[in-house]
This record gives sequence, structure tokens and C-alpha cells, in this order.
Amino acid sequence: MPMGPATSPAPLPAASGDWFQFRSLGEGITLITEPHVIPFLRCNIWHIRGRGLDLMVDTGLGVSSLHAASRHLFGQRVAALATHVHLDHVGGHHEFAECWCHCLEADALTRADPDGTLADFDLSEVNIQVPGYETGGPALTALPTPDYDLSAWEIKQATVTRRLDEGDAIDLGNRHFEVLHLPGHSPGSIGL
Ligand SMILES: [Zn+2]
Repeated sequence: MPMGPATSPAPLPAASGDWFQFRSLGEGITLITEPHVIPFLRCNIWHIRGRGLDLMVDTGLGVSSLHAASRHLFGQRVAALATHVHLDHVGGHHEFAECWCHCLEADALTRADPDGTLADFDLSEVNIQVPGYETGGPALTALPTPDYDLSAWEIKQATVTRRLDEGDAIDLGNRHFEVLHLPGHSPGSIGL
């Protein structure tokens, strides 16, 4: 088959408006999403306000600063918790002084190697074959800033300050959670 001249894909536009979308569910609970991330890699990020401590449950892909964008929600202290250490859930954990995840995945987060395959992961060209989410191309539909270099993206090292395990109690002052170890999707997946 004759080949035409190679055409490079059209450059991504810069996102208009804010990178993160905030949806208050009331009672100090906010759902945060990244609408310009493709659905397969778009994480539900939850901010939960507590009297003595806030939780940020997962932090998304890390292409834009979650900490800066959500600072208006924070109380005195905030801990970023990971439901599991996959790259689409821990991209912003390095921004938080308190960083929690299951003990089985703490080393991966510290090494900034969430899947053990991160060196091969390129957000500018993803190839997803999961049924219902098949896609090839960039992981974003817009860039956070006009000059953002998608190929330079990486998960940054985080310092894990608390290693969670089954039955651990999380006390926010006026809200309390119990850690449930739910291995399957990943060895250290947890629920609260
Ligand atoms: Zn995952």
C-alpha cells in the first residue's frame, strides 16, 4: 500500500478554565475530577473535611497541582490517602506532607513506580485495550497549560508517612473510618 507523508497528530489545545472540576456533595465532602483526562485514567478524587484532619482520597494523574487548586477546601491539616498505588490515583501525592497508603504499596509510592511499569508509560501515546475503554493516543484531551510537555510527565516520589493495614482507624475528629484491605485490583487496594 502506498504510504503518504507522515502526518503528526494535531497538537492538543490548552484547557479553557480550571483543570480540576469540584462538586460539593455537602457536609464537607467534595468530588474532584479532571475532565480533560480520558475516562480510563480519570480518577474520582475525594476531599473529606474533618475537624482535626482532612483526607484527600486519591490525587489523580498529577499533570496539574491538585494541592494548589484545592487549597480553599483545606482545614488545618490534610493527608493524601491512596486507595491503591496506580499511576492514575497517586500523581499528586508528592505535594502533601502527609501521605498514606497500604503497607504493601508504600515502597512503590516511595520509588515513584506505581505499577512497576511506569518507565514504559507515556501519557502522550497510550494504548488501552480494556473493553469499553479502548483508546489509542494521548491520555488527555487538552493540556493544563499551553506549553505543557506531555512526554515529560512522570509520577514524582512521595514520602509515605503512614502505612495502613486492615482494621486501622482513621480519626478526622468528627469523622472516623476503618481501613478495609481489599486486594484484587492491586495487592494493597483499600476501602474506608
Ligand atoms: Zn487501579
